[in-house]
Amino acid sequence: MKENEWSSLNEMIRICRKCVISGERKNVVLYRGSLQAFVMFIGEAPGKDEDETGVPFVGRAGKILDKAIADTGLTEKDFIIVNVLKCRPAGNKYMKIYEKNCISYLNTQIEIISPKLIVTLGMHALAIFSKEKLIKNIGIPIRHQEYTVIPMLHPASVLHDPRKWNLWNDSWNALKTYIEHKKIINEK
Ligand code: SF4
Repeated sequence: MKENEWSSLNEMIRICRKCVISGERKNVVLYRGSLQAFVMFIGEAPGKDEDETGVPFVGRAGKILDKAIADTGLTEKDFIIVNVLKCRPAGNKYMKIYEKNCISYLNTQIEIISPKLIVTLGMHALAIFSKEKLIKNIGIPIRHQEYTVIPMLHPASVLHDPRKWNLWNDSWNALKTYIEHKKIINEK
């Protein structure tokens, strides 16, 4: 059932032409991970490597993210990774007009997966759920409707500014503690 809904959604996204950037994409970028996930990581938009492969977070930032996820103890069946935008933005410029066009796909992804925990990566992903500033809320759980959302830095931010490594590591340790303390386990 869930698999059928997910496949139908993916087919809709694959043929979507709502934004001008659809004309330049090589691939829509749908997800990677498990449909049985209890943690959903939400990034912002595909980059060059993601556009080439159709898979989110496969470049250098993706390697940083993968190590951080592995260090929390989550395994492949426990999580899924998606982006707010499914097409690579022109010139890598995230624009609200694309977000407005694409947000219904993310909302449907969340509905289908129904995660116990959402982890946002970067300010654009957090802005979907909260008006709070990212820098003041990194690693701190917030409620959005029936979901718990934990805002985190985007992994690319530590590539661009190595001074953020301490903040990155501290926030992921806090996330690991939250998952352990709340005893969030994958019962799906
Ligand atoms: S960004 Fe989203 S809404 Fe825009 S064309 Fe791509 S899939 Fe469609």
